[in-house]
Amino acid sequence: MNVKDIINKLYEVNSASKKELLYLLDNINEGEKDYLISKAHDTRMKYYSNKVYLRGLIELTSFCKKDCLYCGLRRSNKNAQRYRLDIDDVLECVRKGDKLGYKTFVLQGGEDAYYSDEIMINIIKAIKKEFPENAITLSLGERSYESYRNLFEAGADRYLLRHESASKELYESIHPGEPFEERFNCLKNLKEIGYQAGAGFMVGIPNQTNEDLVNDLIFVKKFAPAMCGIGPFIPHKDTPLKEYKHGSLEKTVICLAIVRLLLPKVLLPATTALSSIDKNGRNAGLKAGGNVIMPNLSPMSVRKKYSLYNDKAYILDEDAEYRKLIEEKVKEAGFEVEVNRGDNIDFIK
Ligand code: SAM
Ligand code: SF4
Repeated sequence: MNVKDIINKLYEVNSASKKELLYLLDNINEGEKDYLISKAHDTRMKYYSNKVYLRGLIELTSFCKKDCLYCGLRRSNKNAQRYRLDIDDVLECVRKGDKLGYKTFVLQGGEDAYYSDEIMINIIKAIKKEFPENAITLSLGERSYESYRNLFEAGADRYLLRHESASKELYESIHPGEPFEERFNCLKNLKEIGYQAGAGFMVGIPNQTNEDLVNDLIFVKKFAPAMCGIGPFIPHKDTPLKEYKHGSLEKTVICLAIVRLLLPKVLLPATTALSSIDKNGRNAGLKAGGNVIMPNLSPMSVRKKYSLYNDKAYILDEDAEYRKLIEEKVKEAGFEVEVNRGDNIDFIK
């Protein structure tokens, strides 16, 4: 076995065994990393050319009933500042985003029972009434099958629910009292209902091994999500994991490139978390096969309150200026911003 052969296999047949993936993660050197990235880049060019899709991120609520050990919004964090956006706030963000050319809106938030199906259906329908051509992505955590179906029928197109870790023990160690199987059941339900479903994982979770990352890669290959969010774990000062180091840029980029090769058509964000640990993080993500950026559209007054981890990048950048800056930065990196919904090509009707 050698690393280059495994990369070639990934490139040619879009798969590799557990053993091969582990060998690759354990042994890859600088030159081989560049080779992996070049193969991931070729693959993205083949399916999506040099396009980068933008999603306007609206952080709906900082209330959360869950207690994930890593996240600043966890219910036990007494220092967290809580807020909720109402339908008018959301519509204002959406209008601003549409003017800036964002054709997908991502409504993300903690698991907050205030956002009942009825409230979410009203929000989704109001957005779709004004912007019928635009896509809506939800990222509101675990809900029942029925709830997911109701929101889909109201007009939601996509749902992001990272699996966080595909190793049961590691998953349950950072999600106390939350069965691993539930998360995966939700993902299965989302797919069955017809959403473009997004899975994903954090790189550098405390005590995570390369074997754990291989489990993530194998899970992602098998589940074949339409989108896959991969970002480094970053500590938050008011959580039990505050003393740990953040995940590495290098390993995150390697995982992004492998996922691009395993799932050539997947939509792969260069995440804000990646930019938050390194000022060149986003470019590195784009060069390794990333083709999505999710700029923040939330009202300025709430942005600091949606605090998942320390030192979040671009947090108070003014939207119109930031939009221009993204376009420039994307161009500098050799890519081009595309102003359309940016569906996974398997879902384009
Ligand atoms: N509550 C929903 C959920 O958990 O799926 C959606 C919102 S949650 C804040 C979105 C994502 O943020 C999570 O899937 C998790 O991977 C990421 N996240 C939370 N805390 C993080 C941290 N400390 N470092 C990196 N990513 C983090
Ligand atoms: Fe809540 Fe999501 Fe944060 Fe977990 S990751 S505490 S579910 S907002």
